[in-house]
Amino acid sequence: MAEWGAAAGSVDEVLLASPRSFCAGVERAIEVVEQALRRHGPPVYVRKQIVHNTRVVADLRARGAVFVDELDEVPDGGLTVFSAHGVSPAVRREAARRRLPLVDATCPLVTKVHSEARRFAGRGDTVLLIGHAGHEETEGTLGEAPERMRLVPDLAAAETVQVDDPSRVSYLVQTTLAVDEAAGILDALRRRFPALAGPGSDDICYATTNRQRAVTTVAARSAVVLVVGSANSSNSRRLVEVAERAGARAHLVDDVSCVDLRWLAGATTVGVTAGASAPPGLVDEVVAALVALGAREVSEHPTVVEDVSFTLPKEVRQP
Ligand code: SF4
Repeated sequence: MAEWGAAAGSVDEVLLASPRSFCAGVERAIEVVEQALRRHGPPVYVRKQIVHNTRVVADLRARGAVFVDELDEVPDGGLTVFSAHGVSPAVRREAARRRLPLVDATCPLVTKVHSEARRFAGRGDTVLLIGHAGHEETEGTLGEAPERMRLVPDLAAAETVQVDDPSRVSYLVQTTLAVDEAAGILDALRRRFPALAGPGSDDICYATTNRQRAVTTVAARSAVVLVVGSANSSNSRRLVEVAERAGARAHLVDDVSCVDLRWLAGATTVGVTAGASAPPGLVDEVVAALVALGAREVSEHPTVVEDVSFTLPKEVRQP
């Protein structure tokens, strides 16, 4: 009760970062599974989480999606969906060998990074992938040319990574990295390898960039920022870090039940955002709770309007 009272007495204003929540790649990936369930009926096997969000996965599981870690868990003939994060060529080959019926929900912006990896490695470069170890996206991208690619997860690695020929080096970036952090790593690589080549346009995707810019604006005016998203969502975790660098105390919450009232004590202004894989409804629940605690004003703080959409794969497209 004391915690509730302290929070209720202080929260006055809620600042909503915009854009927030679902991006075009996540909407498409969820739609792929929904359409696959509608057309073929359950079970539909999804390799890895379709997107990194607990609620999305639970909802689809309840409707007949079966999430597996690897293809050997899929029975012969089982309709299989690749997640938004993409897969390595080895996984594609295995699916083809088993003749699994397949729908690929890889985000087109991840696919673009895979093509760049093939192009750069194909011309003989050592390809430095700035990204996080163990993330499904980086594992898939590294699989395009494992012998020619090196993962650069941080500044320390940028200072020490070895290449075969310093005149033939290129870089790629995981789509969901923090823009400022990646820029620092890239600066270090450019200093060490002046001939470093890169993708024609930025690999960090529009949705990641826009959500980071939006949360920066809101965090600068907030004591606390609540970021709705799951712990395994790279995009959401980066929003927490970016908000902290902008001066707010920031917390990642899967949903409203994860909000610790002690975080809100003494905070008159609370910022709210959501990672690209977090459903908008979860944000609404957090805002409703803050209003119930006494927030008198809820305002949107748009930094850019998004109008990106991707067509569905042909296997699940409406005729
Ligand atoms: Fe695609 Fe970017 Fe969304 Fe990832 S965060 S699914 S790369 S649009």
